Amino acid sequence: MSTPQLPPAHPFDDDKLREECGIFGVVGITDAANFVALGLHALQHRGQEAGGIVSHDRDQGFNSARRFGYVRDNFTSQSLMETLPGPLAIGHVRYSTTGSKGNTAIRDVQPFFGEFSLGGAAVAHNGNITNANALRRELIERGSIFQSSSDSECIINLMARSMARSIPDRMEEALRKVEGAFSVVAMTRTKLIGVRDPLGVRPLVLGQLGDGWILSSETCALDIIGADFVREIDPGEMVVISEKNGVESHFPFRQRKPRFCIFEHVYFSRPDSILGGRSVYETRRQIGVELAREAPVEADLVCPVPDSGTPAAIGYAHESGIPYGMGIIRNQYMGRTFIEPTEQIRNMGVRLKLNVNRALIKGKRVILVDDSVVRGTTSRKIKEMILDAGASEVHFRIASPPTAWPCFYGVYTPQREKLLAATMSEEEMRDHLQVDSLRFISLNGLYRAVGEAGGRNDLHPQYCDACFSGEYPVRPADMLEQGFEMKAAE
Ligand code: SF4
Repeated sequence: MSTPQLPPAHPFDDDKLREECGIFGVVGITDAANFVALGLHALQHRGQEAGGIVSHDRDQGFNSARRFGYVRDNFTSQSLMETLPGPLAIGHVRYSTTGSKGNTAIRDVQPFFGEFSLGGAAVAHNGNITNANALRRELIERGSIFQSSSDSECIINLMARSMARSIPDRMEEALRKVEGAFSVVAMTRTKLIGVRDPLGVRPLVLGQLGDGWILSSETCALDIIGADFVREIDPGEMVVISEKNGVESHFPFRQRKPRFCIFEHVYFSRPDSILGGRSVYETRRQIGVELAREAPVEADLVCPVPDSGTPAAIGYAHESGIPYGMGIIRNQYMGRTFIEPTEQIRNMGVRLKLNVNRALIKGKRVILVDDSVVRGTTSRKIKEMILDAGASEVHFRIASPPTAWPCFYGVYTPQREKLLAATMSEEEMRDHLQVDSLRFISLNGLYRAVGEAGGRNDLHPQYCDACFSGEYPVRPADMLEQGFEMKAAE
């Protein structure tokens, strides 16, 4: 087996950070897999490359289906869904880190399944195991066989080696050896299991529909099936849910101060989801308000870079009193462009997805509000399109601080040297993008917008913000082994 490398630049749309997975599970509802398919459809923004569902039926045992592509193109076929019977099912949508669709094997697509002496179990994981290389080496030396290149398969192999007397106990033992960020949904023949890592980096929520229970990455996927949002799974919590006993909860890990991913508020989660009791849409609007206070500029029009910049642009316009307008229109039917990753085609890709509303832009001083600047290639292209349409000035306002560090907790990030903010100051970035002004929200401003009135607690930060601050709450052991250099202590 070759040693996994730092993620290569992604050929598609690599000017954004990308959430890598969404997970969903159902117990106690007839034909659970149909509900899982709908839930995964609502979570498609968390992973578009592939998806999988495992179900269990008392007569037919475990069944699974894994497919490349969108949920709607695969898991809507009656003939396929009939192969996934039963009242218990889990599913996963995935976004690859391996560089191209052609490099990803169907065996990497989750959920993973293992047959143990105690019965079978399936596991789906959102996040990233930061000590997966060391675990994998150790497991292989002790005789384990891996079928995929995914870090998540370590969990199944650790469970297989455990001597614990129940599958939930084996999972608990396995996850105690795992470092990093993980939200997990798993299933046995009778139980649905949900776990969040002690820092609660990635989200996981509990819902209810009639007598059935649901676990989901986000609340928006509960809405699509008409389920009620019950609560978030707490950081470090494990829930074991069965038709017989309902929800049983315990906390198997050493308790730590939570460090939820702050970027979920900025970009990854859907705006119609609720995170930490707050509407994601409202938080993003508030980010725009903070941005307008921190970085005002005289202009005629505030435009979002659709779709993710929209709530922040609304907040910016409201706070500044400058009119809001849709200066850029998104082609809703584009999807992802599976085309060659040359710079030229990448630039064309922006034009295929976004078009300028010339009648609105002409002769105006325009403020463009975007969620983030990663490589800067898209920002540059958008600026050119706005100027070509006759804008007299272009000012960028960014709803997150400069992204200067890669994420190792389940989010695809280009290599550090490809991140514009890793090598340039704000002024250098402004020159590079050739815009009239460029300002990012401050880290404290972002914390205020997510509800921390006093801003960031620098001694004990309330969130994970490593991609902005370089302060990693979990040591990225595998990456350090491969030569990644952490920020020097100040
Ligand atoms: S580094 Fe932390 S804040 Fe940034 S995307 Fe990753 S988990 Fe989220």
